[in-house]
Amino acid sequence: MSGNSELSQVVRQIRSMVAGEVWEREPMSRHTSYRIGGPADVLVRPATLDASLYLFDWLTKENVPWMVLGHGTNLLVMDEGVRGIVVDLTRATRAWDWKGTTVHVGGGAPLAGLARRAALMGLSGLEFAAGIPGTLGGAIVMNAGAEGGCMADVTVSVDLWVPGEGLQVVPAGELCFGYRTSTLQSWPGVVLGASLMLRAGDPEKIQEKMDEILEKRRRTQPLNYPNAGSVFRNPPGDAAGRLLEEVHMKGMRVGDAQVSTVHANFIVNLGRARARDVLALMQLGRKRVWESFGVWLEPEIKLVGGNQLPMPAKERISRDR
Ligand SMILES: Cc1cc2nc3c(=O)[nH]c(=O)nc-3n(C[C@H](O)[C@H](O)[C@H](O)COP(=O)(O)OP(=O)(O)OC[C@H]3O[C@@H](n4cnc5c(N)ncnc54)[C@H](O)[C@@H]3O)c2cc1C
Repeated sequence: MSGNSELSQVVRQIRSMVAGEVWEREPMSRHTSYRIGGPADVLVRPATLDASLYLFDWLTKENVPWMVLGHGTNLLVMDEGVRGIVVDLTRATRAWDWKGTTVHVGGGAPLAGLARRAALMGLSGLEFAAGIPGTLGGAIVMNAGAEGGCMADVTVSVDLWVPGEGLQVVPAGELCFGYRTSTLQSWPGVVLGASLMLRAGDPEKIQEKMDEILEKRRRTQPLNYPNAGSVFRNPPGDAAGRLLEEVHMKGMRVGDAQVSTVHANFIVNLGRARARDVLALMQLGRKRVWESFGVWLEPEIKLVGGNQLPMPAKERISRDR
């Protein structure tokens, strides 16, 4: 949106047609686990599924740029903020419905809460999700996982809204799930919900496994500072954290962003870190790992907003050597 009057007009229009909350120039730092990010032009949290669908149709028809937000636990939002509309589905799509070992879950439902509920019901399959923050929608898009499990293992189908095509139920096999990836990362589809298939199990054993995973997280991750989980994907056959530790990134600091002293693949916000501080650490770590090991680390966190290319291309770093 080019100017203040155009923005105000869009906000008025959205308020008049969509039930829910609408914020103008809303700091994204309030909506990300990093507590970092400049303002979104508009952030909308529709109250119902119908209101969300109406909004998506209107945004598409009017050609207004938009993105979906889950719990913002895998995002680094640039200091310049996000131009366009950010749609938060956590109010409109958070229900779940159990039928035997199958559960239909809304895209805005919290994944860790779902895993806790499954454990209480003696349903196995979501133990890996203990302590993974975020929504079901974000977890499907990212194929979130840990401890050898991931969303692809339990997902049967996904309810998608696709611009220009509307609602579709897509079998999981068509989403090309891979290590922290799915086709949804390059498609404009919105995850409204998904059907997951779990297995009957022993509630005590399931809980024990989840407690073990949570305990390991407390020991190995810097959970006392805002962060967005692993910054880089693990390269094939290796761990990004190990490589970053080898090149002495642990404890490295730019502004209030610091490579965790506990886990080198986590960058934490010590207080007032900006996106550019986190990016500077990412660039330094990536350059050192490239120079020492010839391994090019790819970000796992999603870089959102701003108007410049936030990470330098591989070719540039190679030339700079
Ligand atoms: C302490 C900590 C530990 C973590 N540990 C793990 C871990 O062990 N394993 C792991 O995989 N991840 C981990 N993460 C990262 C993160 O929690 C997951 O990637 C999570 O699934 C993201 O969900 P979200 O709702 O926060 O998504 P967001 O961060 O809000 O969004 C992520 C991406 O998904 C898109 N998106 C979100 N919802 C939808 C939707 N409904 N429809 C379409 N697109 C959508 C967004 O546009 C964005 O591109 C961790 C993060 C933290 C902070």
